[in-house]
Amino acid sequence: MNLPSYIAGKAVHSDDKLEVFYPYDNSLTGTVSKITNAQLHEAIEHAISPKNTSLSRYERHAILRKAADLLAEQREDLAKLLCRESGLCMRETMYETGRSSDVLEFAAIEALKDDGEVFSCDISPQGKARKIVTFKQPLQLVSAITPFNHPLNQVAHKVAPAIAAGTPMLLKPSEKTPLVAIRFAEILYQAGLPSWMLQVFVGDLDEVVTPMITDERVEMVSFTGSVAIGKHISKTAGYKKTCLELGGNSPLIVLEDADLEKAVTLAAEGAFRNSGQRCTAVKRILVQESILETFTERFVEKAKEYTSGDPEDPETRVGTVIDEAAAIYLEEVVEKAVADGAKVLLGGNRSGALLEPTVIANVPRDTQMVADESFGPLAPIIPIKDLDDAIEYYNGGNFGLSSGVVTNDLQLALKAAKHLRTGTTNINEVPGYRIECSPFGGIKDSGLGIKEGVIEAMKFMQTTKTFSFPWE
Ligand code: NAD
Repeated sequence: MNLPSYIAGKAVHSDDKLEVFYPYDNSLTGTVSKITNAQLHEAIEHAISPKNTSLSRYERHAILRKAADLLAEQREDLAKLLCRESGLCMRETMYETGRSSDVLEFAAIEALKDDGEVFSCDISPQGKARKIVTFKQPLQLVSAITPFNHPLNQVAHKVAPAIAAGTPMLLKPSEKTPLVAIRFAEILYQAGLPSWMLQVFVGDLDEVVTPMITDERVEMVSFTGSVAIGKHISKTAGYKKTCLELGGNSPLIVLEDADLEKAVTLAAEGAFRNSGQRCTAVKRILVQESILETFTERFVEKAKEYTSGDPEDPETRVGTVIDEAAAIYLEEVVEKAVADGAKVLLGGNRSGALLEPTVIANVPRDTQMVADESFGPLAPIIPIKDLDDAIEYYNGGNFGLSSGVVTNDLQLALKAAKHLRTGTTNINEVPGYRIECSPFGGIKDSGLGIKEGVIEAMKFMQTTKTFSFPWE
């Protein structure tokens, strides 16, 4: 499969190609043609050309709805391609295509809603008989850069709100997983999206990626990825809006009154789904000491259900991580944790990019595996005295993306929601639970508190214009 980049309504094929490999056996899955700096400038000029006529709300709605239908028709093929470029198992990639359909559907709904406000001005002694009305205007151009871990859904979460908002976008998907992103753009063109509204490409860092961030005609950068690159982008972007959705180190806090069956299920789903490669994956299981032993025994049994292996086998529940280097890193942090006093209770074996779901007990709080983000199917168990101890431990770290608390005690649930310094707290759910239109995003090293989710992303890709008139 040799896919082009799309610039100014044309499919760009070149000899300079990015190769994408299947992490399970290192076979070549496909290539994408890279663009040059001159082609990036062509893309920017095409996006902001005065000849472009804005799309009506109905047109944006119709394009997004049609794309949702086309995506549903091609769901199986896209899920297979996702699997072949990421190593995620089919169970996950089918789920991801479903989520991306939701993103398109919700964006189609939002495109129809008017979001203006009216302010009467005669409401104080200083007032006048006037009215102020607000309406939203699209930004001139947004650059979007996405990570590998949800190759389709991360892209959908940037592109669909941009279309709903009427904002043109340049998209540079992860160099590890660009194939489905290109297919997604083709679906949108097929659904009637004008070429200037979305251009998608890969290219070299100095020639294409950095300039798409620094160019003054780009009014906003929307980035999802690691903390290090996010902070680098925040420095290089200069005077423009930035939406940075960065890493996480989410805890599942299991308190002594918890329904244990629910707790072990949430811990396993949170730690192992998507090969543990979700920004909101459970990366630390904090268990109250009084139930530590029982929880651990039952969790190890539950974890055995998460069989790893051939990602294309429909029975496989955990595929590979993104590449062998990532799997080796995970193996090393497990070894370091063991040297620091932890004990591997299940899994831990690696073959290439395939790492078995791994349960690790007695994990010290300062070992690298849990002090940094470990992006893979690791389930470290850490004892806590009580909720206060868990809150203090979590709040003392650098991340602030999401959290889950398993308890039936309302007071404790409310305390956690109030005091955990993080973007999300889910009670009796995994930290990552959301719907595609609810606000989503982190604070501290996980982000600047600027949210995504279809509705919030649309707002940030627009500006609010006010106008006023006499109302006598
Ligand atoms: P990454 O930061 O390595 O790469 C992300 C993107 O940035 C890729 O497209 C990459 O090509 C690009 N990039 C690399 N160097 C760049 C540079 N110097 N300038 C501009 N762009 C550059 O992240 P990844 O490894 O692809 O993804 C995993 C990370 O993403 C994890 O930390 C995960 O937690 C995070 N993530 C966060 C969210 C969220 O919503 N908060 C969601 C998914 C993933």
